[in-house]
Amino acid sequence: MNEIRDTRGRILFAGTFDPELIARIEQPTHVVRTLFDIIGELATSSAKENVDAIVLNEELLATYSDTAFDAIRRVDPFPIIVISGEKHNYKLADISVPQDTTSHRLLSAVVNARTQPIAKPELDEFDIDEALGFTDQTKTTPDGNSLGDVDLVRMLLHNPSNFRTTLLSLLKEQTDWKFCEFVDDETRVPHNTQFAQLRYGHQEHGILVAIGPTKEEIIRWGRWTSCWLELHLRHRQMKLLAYRDELSGAWNRRFLSACLRREINQALSARRPLTVMIFDIDDFKQYNDKFGHDAGDDIIREVVRLLQATIRKGDHVCRIGGDEFAVLFCDPEPPREVGSNHPTTVEFLAKRFREQVSRAHFSKLGKDAQGSVSISGGLATFPWDGTEVDSLLRKADERLFESKRHGKNTITIGKDES
Ligand code: GH3
Ligand code: MG
Repeated sequence: MNEIRDTRGRILFAGTFDPELIARIEQPTHVVRTLFDIIGELATSSAKENVDAIVLNEELLATYSDTAFDAIRRVDPFPIIVISGEKHNYKLADISVPQDTTSHRLLSAVVNARTQPIAKPELDEFDIDEALGFTDQTKTTPDGNSLGDVDLVRMLLHNPSNFRTTLLSLLKEQTDWKFCEFVDDETRVPHNTQFAQLRYGHQEHGILVAIGPTKEEIIRWGRWTSCWLELHLRHRQMKLLAYRDELSGAWNRRFLSACLRREINQALSARRPLTVMIFDIDDFKQYNDKFGHDAGDDIIREVVRLLQATIRKGDHVCRIGGDEFAVLFCDPEPPREVGSNHPTTVEFLAKRFREQVSRAHFSKLGKDAQGSVSISGGLATFPWDGTEVDSLLRKADERLFESKRHGKNTITIGKDES
């Protein structure tokens, strides 16, 4: 199993090439002069006329800007872009080949392009829709009727964690293939199956394997699948961009409001309490002034990392301002200490986190800086301290300021405790 991509589609050449090279290629070829001819050719070819590769002579690179190359991928994201020339590492190309390459070498470079192991997108680790309460408002479960693209759209919007399963069901239903599955890389392709690499532009989506299709069929459905998987990925990326803080990787203020609203509703119907902590780094401005803005950024990231190691799976860390954060203690399980079966309290977790920060070593502050960063916080618990998002956060904020007033490096829990 050496070949991962069928090479029976067309190969387009732009620029000057040795006619011998092109004549020896045993699949349809088309030679044009400029990059715009390539774009025109892609734009006017039908979806059935696959273009496997676009080979560009290096000389064209001097004439066109990066955006022109970008335009090729916008028109058709699937072909492998090959640059033929003496220099290497063109960032816009998928592969480079020497000008005196042979047809055999050129085709094998195209076939083997991008078969490196696929990095799994980290996005699947966390169900953002679940945390935000984007629940299935429509009937997305198959109801016995034929599936169609509309089911994929509904899955994308309302039940994205089941998107790939629906995609597979739809493929099976539309094709009558005996078997059809996604695998991560070529080492996992079972014997006696047809397969197609799933790729959209530079993005790899794994491999589609099936029993039943011809090579042409699986390539065609593979492209259809790649488009949907890319849309699914981008949709998730957009959501993360909307709800995540870029610097620290924590959630942002928008997430805090949406998630807290949902958690309050859930706590209300389950008749259980819900605690939120707001905390702020003490004298943060002085770190920026003394050690620079980068060191300040580093402290923010490190504080979030420490916090993520302290809280439980269902809890959330949000950065709500410069050096101000909120923690939603949403995990319905009572907290447990490592190595112990006894539940501990949210208050205990908050205090332990404060101690950890004050003991932590922040490398950007120099060797002797251990113990030089501290935080102050305030806790508020539904329903006693508030029954709505604003009132709960306001209470936690008041207690944070109480901690600041009492000399910082402390967490205020309720009226009498700290
Ligand atoms: P306090 O103990 O009262 O909280 O004092 P403080 O110095 O922490 O409070 P203040 O609100 O005066 O300072 C917060 C500083 O955080 C001011 C601002 O320059 C800095 N800051 C805000 N966002 C960022 C950021 O993204 N990166 C860095 N490095 N600094 C930031
Ligand atoms: Mg501060």
